[in-house]
Amino acid sequence: MPARAAIIPVTPLQQNCMLLWCEATKRAAVIDPGGDLDRIAEAIGKTGVTVETILLTHGHIDHAGGAAELKERLGVPVVGPHEADRFLLDHLPEAGRAYGIAGARAVTPDRWLAEGDAVSVGEIAFQVLHCPGHSPGSVVFVQDEQRFAIVGDVLFRGSVGRTDLPGGDHAALIRSITDKLLPLGDDVTFLCGHGPAGTIGEERASNPFLV
Ligand SMILES: [Zn+2]
Ligand SMILES: [Zn+2]
Repeated sequence: MPARAAIIPVTPLQQNCMLLWCEATKRAAVIDPGGDLDRIAEAIGKTGVTVETILLTHGHIDHAGGAAELKERLGVPVVGPHEADRFLLDHLPEAGRAYGIAGARAVTPDRWLAEGDAVSVGEIAFQVLHCPGHSPGSVVFVQDEQRFAIVGDVLFRGSVGRTDLPGGDHAALIRSITDKLLPLGDDVTFLCGHGPAGTIGEERASNPFLV
């Protein structure tokens, strides 16, 4: 079943919040609602989809700061990331103050994710990869048939996630990318938390952190 998505840049960090939906059922997920909930609500209204879940790739403020409030507004569960990011989700209010993001609240997911788990949005199934390094609990959502992956801040076009924040580990990040993302295949498109989408093949050939 075809997936469709709208990107909604949120927070002063211009994070790519995503409204992703299943065209067959019009059921949707909001992925990484860092903040600016009114803008997210507007996108939901415009597309006419029904949000059934909130997915989090990791616990950083620009990705998770609005999750608790959005959960309350929509009455849907928060799913992900891996439990290793619990310390980040517990301290979102402090992170919000540090980054000038108003109204950030701590959030406890209804379901933590682990390597090999499956999540679905309408009739679209995703496989979960645990990809620590940028944060200890970062996860990636892979849609095999339609050849795309939602990678959060693990991999960017021409770059990789920063690892200078608490729990960051550069060697682990490079391992996550080379052991788990590159094997997905050169034709796979990845959608990241900041900046434009890319393909695995392009990064394998030219990403300065990987070649
Ligand atoms: Zn991040
Ligand atoms: Zn980010």
